[in-house]
Amino acid sequence: MQKYILAIDQGTTSTRAILFDHESNIIGIAQKELDNYYPQPGWVEQNANDIWASCVGVMFEVLAKTGIKDSQVVGIGITNQRETTVVWDKETGMPIYNAIVWQSRQSNSYCEDLKKRGFEDKIKEKTGLLLDPYFSASKIRYILDHVDGAQKRAENGELLFGTMDTWLLWKMTNGKKHMSDVSNVSRTMLMNLKTLEYDDELLTLWNVPRCMLPEIRDTSEVYGYTEGLFDHPIPIASLVGDQQAALFGQTCFEAGNVKNTYGTGCFLLMNTKDKIIHSRNGLVTCVGWRINGICDYILEGSVFVAGAAIQWLRDSLSIISKSSESEQRAMSISSCEGVYVVPSFTGLGAPYWKPKVKGGILGLTRGTTQNHIIRATVESLAYQTSDVVFAMQEDSGLKIEKMLVDGGASKNNFLLQFQSDILNTEVVRSNISETTALGAAYLAGLAVGFWKSKGEIKEQFQIARTFQPSMEETSRIQHLNGWKKAVNAIMEF
Ligand code: ADP
Repeated sequence: MQKYILAIDQGTTSTRAILFDHESNIIGIAQKELDNYYPQPGWVEQNANDIWASCVGVMFEVLAKTGIKDSQVVGIGITNQRETTVVWDKETGMPIYNAIVWQSRQSNSYCEDLKKRGFEDKIKEKTGLLLDPYFSASKIRYILDHVDGAQKRAENGELLFGTMDTWLLWKMTNGKKHMSDVSNVSRTMLMNLKTLEYDDELLTLWNVPRCMLPEIRDTSEVYGYTEGLFDHPIPIASLVGDQQAALFGQTCFEAGNVKNTYGTGCFLLMNTKDKIIHSRNGLVTCVGWRINGICDYILEGSVFVAGAAIQWLRDSLSIISKSSESEQRAMSISSCEGVYVVPSFTGLGAPYWKPKVKGGILGLTRGTTQNHIIRATVESLAYQTSDVVFAMQEDSGLKIEKMLVDGGASKNNFLLQFQSDILNTEVVRSNISETTALGAAYLAGLAVGFWKSKGEIKEQFQIARTFQPSMEETSRIQHLNGWKKAVNAIMEF
């Protein structure tokens, strides 16, 4: 009988279950959208029980759709939106507050307070992270402070904390396993990157009781078995943060391998193997994965507005009717003729870190048309990505030989060719678009012997298309100088 791996991709906007066969083919997908709540501007919350229900729903749906029996599923891999925080009652299993989503800014004051008290550098040194409400620690603090009696109950061992991997594992094992993996824990701001253990000084700073924290485990191992869900217990065999899962799914196993996901924003990750590289350009350092006790570290940078800039062309400027139209419109002209769009609608991230800067369109002439603005907007995704790649190269001393890409906007061939030209680097789009779920599946499959090694996985990697750099060096430098000037201009504005 054919065997399969079931990947759960618990994302911010939806939960999906995807079945993979041994050749990495997608056999079936089921998806359930999730509600987000915005109690105040800048706050984002979700109902953790709804997330669990969506997970159960999509698991059964994908099995029903494909006619595959649970006995044919040899392992479950869970990948998840990172940092999103839930605290629940150990006895009843009921969350004591909504899950606070990674984007939410409601715990900002705790970070500001620690900054004022001079702890920013120490936290960065220990965790590799920037002191920001994005990460879980301040979200736990928020919940313990805003639910009556929660701090005391946490100290008494009555409450448990988890990111979504931990929550789903706990629910799937009927409360038996309270664990997380190093990739997820490295985003909590409570773990020391060197020891890969919770750090007493950090726990004291955040006043988070150790007894509420999940046990830290490898990214690929059998943590436990489903209980009371299927006819046959299924091993849960990987827990991994979504961006790290995509890096694994893209088979970026060597030092200097980079992937970029072009979604609403961009997420760039570089594998730095056993080296913890502290960035001087505002990138964060965390764990990629740990397999059989061997840890791969990563450097990570993000672009706040990427595909969102294409949505802006569609929804705010109304000069394209769908995102994909941006490709054909960009290609209908041979150059932007000096027009640059800097879509820093929510400030500039790495390597500039100017949160208050606004966006701009520069270099307009009487001859500028809609198509110039569309093309310049698409190009801005590539320029912003290049800024992060250059920072990664500088921080790591590693030359990036090629970049593997995924995400919605990676369908745009014009964008990827321009990206390759501007970076002077090969850009590779893989055949499987679901690299996040695939990464979780691979990690689970390795743990249960479905795949034997990373080498065997690497052999399965199928390229959909490779983009080779073809721009003259002088032109490349000219383009990049123009972008630098445009960014400098808006930083002055
Ligand atoms: P997310 O996971 O962040 O929601 P996706 O990976 O689904 O994002 O990608 C969606 C984004 O990609 C949208 O912002 C959309 O505007 C953009 N996008 C989709 N197709 C294209 C395209 N052909 N060219 C440029 N951008 C695109």
